[in-house]
Amino acid sequence: MILEMRVERVQGNPAKRFMAKYGSTLRKKVAEIERVQRALHYCPSCGKPKVRRYAIGIWICRGCGFKFAGGAWVPSPKE
Ligand SMILES: [Zn+2]
Repeated sequence: MILEMRVERVQGNPAKRFMAKYGSTLRKKVAEIERVQRALHYCPSCGKPKVRRYAIGIWICRGCGFKFAGGAWVPSPKE
């Protein structure tokens, strides 16, 4: 009985539910993330502001070649 109810809830349009959940706040958040992403990031190894995102969660310094794991959108989640 419970299982039947769950199946019914999954059916329909999941994408539509997603959009309703994130709404306009997501657009604001994305704009903020993009602004931070384009800013210069300092290398924890050589201190030069040459760190760029290599992949999601992976950052690379163009000054010394130091590669490190960090946040998905900024090198350090604390920044
Ligand atoms: Zn460096």
